Formats: sequence, structure tokens, C-alpha cells
Amino acid sequence: MRNLPIVRSQETRYTRDSAFSYTCHACSRCCHDKIIHLNPYEVARLAQNRGIGTTEFLSQYTDAAGTALKRVEVGACIFLTENGCGVHADRPLVCRIYPLGRHVTAQDGEWFAELEPHPHTEGAYGTAGTVGEYLHDQDAQPYIEAVDRYLDLLGKMAVALRRDLEHNTNIRTEVEQAIDRLMTDHQAPMPVWLDVDAVITQYCAEQRLDVPTDPSVKMDLHMRAIEGWIEVVNSQPRRVQ
Ligand code: SF4
Repeated sequence: MRNLPIVRSQETRYTRDSAFSYTCHACSRCCHDKIIHLNPYEVARLAQNRGIGTTEFLSQYTDAAGTALKRVEVGACIFLTENGCGVHADRPLVCRIYPLGRHVTAQDGEWFAELEPHPHTEGAYGTAGTVGEYLHDQDAQPYIEAVDRYLDLLGKMAVALRRDLEHNTNIRTEVEQAIDRLMTDHQAPMPVWLDVDAVITQYCAEQRLDVPTDPSVKMDLHMRAIEGWIEVVNSQPRRVQ
């Protein structure tokens, strides 16, 4: 095992085959002073974990227009308990893959890098496995697929709203920057479409479907509802520039 300080690794790009391992010793220091970003799938999982709907969850537990978990005064995540994470089975992707961050760019595809650790972390870094094995152990793949699907959907939404950008290959970057702005503007109102239960309840009523309870099924319907909205927008006459 290698311990801190880490000299080079935050600059190093890892693939899923790169040598990497990390053993959490539950010091919980990584659960402080972090912005824990959320997408609608993660909100649906966490809401189910709390036994409430996403509307109530977004109102009680999120900041930044529904895109990040609240923190308490000392900077700790709202779900941190004396015994560690209070929503461990449904923790968001960034918590699952910590201390790695995942990046996806049009040029380079997917890569990972180590995040700056807390100076007193008790986590043990090593090279006994691979990044891919670490992701598997953390059950990260459904979350990775969800975030990729939502980013693609956001791209389509942005194109539908600004069809003059539809040939812009940097659209994903633009969307990510817009999301960053949303997350840092704590006064921004929550976009209605982020609320999975509200969207699918209306969609299911229109389509005469039963409202599902499984978060993955909810996500599929949520996306289908938004894609329907995108189709409607795209079918409207183009704006004259
Ligand atoms: S969700 Fe759990 S693991 Fe993630 S920051 Fe909060 S307490 Fe820590």
C-alpha cells in the first residue's frame, strides 16, 4: 500500500485497466466540504432510500436548484451520521468512485484521475487492482450509464432549445458549463423537469400507465417523457434568424 502524500497521481489519467486500489477506513473526512452533484436517477434512488417521493426529497435534501446534496453547518453532507453514510446503498456516483473523478470528453473519451485527498484521510491507496475492478466493487456502472444518458439528453434538450447550435460539436461542453452555472447559483429556481416523480406522474396519466416505483424504470419513463417534449419542440417551425 502507498500512503500520502501523493505526488504525481492527480495529474495522471487512468483508464479502466490502470492499476489502482483504494481501501476506505471510514474516517468520513471525504464527506465534508464537498459539492455532491446529483442527477435525476440519483435523486430517485435517494428518495426511495428515504421512503419519500422526489418532490419532497428535492425540497428537503438538495441545494443548487436540486442538483446537489445539502450540507449542514460544519460542512458535512446532510446524510453523514456517526456511523458513516446514512444512505450508503444508494449513495451518488461521486461518492461511489471517490477518490477517483470520472471525465468524459469528445476528444479523449472516458478517463479517470485521483481527486485531491483530505490531508488527514485514513484511506489507503494502492495498486492491487484496476480502476475497472474498483468501479465494479462500488456498483458504479448503473450510475455511470445514468449520468451519460442524462448528459446526452441534456445535449438534445439544449439543441432543441437552441437549434442554431445543432451542428456545434462542442454542445456537450456548453451544456456542462450551463450545469456548472446552475450548480453554483444557489438562488436559481429548480427546473421542473428535474423532478422525476412530478414528470412521470403526469406522463403516466397521459399515457395511461401505472406509475412505477423502481428508480431505473422511473428514469426510463422520465427520459421518455423528456424525449417526447424534445420531439414536440423539434417538430415546430424553425425560428427565422
Ligand atoms: S452521500 Fe454518503 S458517502 Fe456521499 S458525501 Fe454524503 S454521507 Fe458521504
